[in-house]
Amino acid sequence: MGWNSVIGQARAKSILRRAIEERRIPHAYLFWGPAGTGKDALAIELARTLLCDAGGTEACGICASCKRMTALQHPNFQFVVALPASRSESAPDDGKDAPASDVVEALRGEMELKAADPYCQITIPKAAFITVKSIRDIRHESSLSSFEPGRKIFIISDAEKMNPPASNALLKILEEPPADTFFFLTTARMDQLLPTIISRCQSIRCELLQDDEIAAALTERKGIPADRAQVAARLANGNYLRACELLSDEVTKVRDEVIQFLRDTMTGNIAGVLRPIEEEWKELDRAAVEDLLSLLLIWFRDALLIAEQFGDGIISTDQRNALERFAARYGKADLSEALRVTEHSLELVRRNVYLPLIFISLSIQIKRILLHVRNT
Ligand SMILES: [Zn+2]
Repeated sequence: MGWNSVIGQARAKSILRRAIEERRIPHAYLFWGPAGTGKDALAIELARTLLCDAGGTEACGICASCKRMTALQHPNFQFVVALPASRSESAPDDGKDAPASDVVEALRGEMELKAADPYCQITIPKAAFITVKSIRDIRHESSLSSFEPGRKIFIISDAEKMNPPASNALLKILEEPPADTFFFLTTARMDQLLPTIISRCQSIRCELLQDDEIAAALTERKGIPADRAQVAARLANGNYLRACELLSDEVTKVRDEVIQFLRDTMTGNIAGVLRPIEEEWKELDRAAVEDLLSLLLIWFRDALLIAEQFGDGIISTDQRNALERFAARYGKADLSEALRVTEHSLELVRRNVYLPLIFISLSIQIKRILLHVRNT
């Protein structure tokens, strides 16, 4: 509870706390930035804080309002997401159109997960757009009865999914916002929002998370041992959700592939060198290939540290024995050159170069580097 529920984002938090302190909260915030950085988490925590009966700069966690917000079940709070297109979306609004019961059920389940973990991604099958119906509901409800007295807060998550009628409806609301009503939009695709909507919101940028922020969160929230958390954080490129995904068995599997790749490289087994990309190749999953090369980078970096007697600084502490054996054998080779060619290969993967070519070339270069002992 409280602002600690949001990982990192110190700058955004301090802006929001100051706004609350000075009682200058704009009617609309736009939280924008890359995926997995906590845009929804920030918006939800701000909603909790503004709805809290204690009225401080941090949700108290014990008042009636905070208790309701623990489950995101506050009558004055609504979380708007994309839903499957309904038959009557284009029909006149007769007020009787409601989402199908299976959609309502799916949404309820997803909201429970979101309440437990604000980083959880809401996925409603066949969700297409945030529709004008959802936005009309906002206008209707924020001016009328079903709410309790006090502030009303709407989060529009992945706001770029609003279709044009919904965008225009929201724009009308933002032009004359009802009293005590706040709109928090979140998006990773600010370029897809109407400029007129952007200009009516105060923008809060969510930065990529630091590796140590992600690693600490994985350990605190998911009980992941520090060494595995470090490796996942390093691979996640500032995206907490990606780090969580990587913690499935995937990382262990890919690390085994890295060691096998090096073995096949040194024995000149080209078929073996290509094996790790065969599966990924079929699915065109370049992200998995990037993971493999990123782990190879970490391997060379750690081996270099051990070879240079800086073994305390290695990332993969759980692979220390294997790394020490590797460093004993190849520590006199130019490992920083191996790092450089691996980095270059990673660059080529991102530029969509033919994968087998990248791997064969990398394998040949690494073998040449490792077998060439420096004379210094
Ligand atoms: Zn409270």
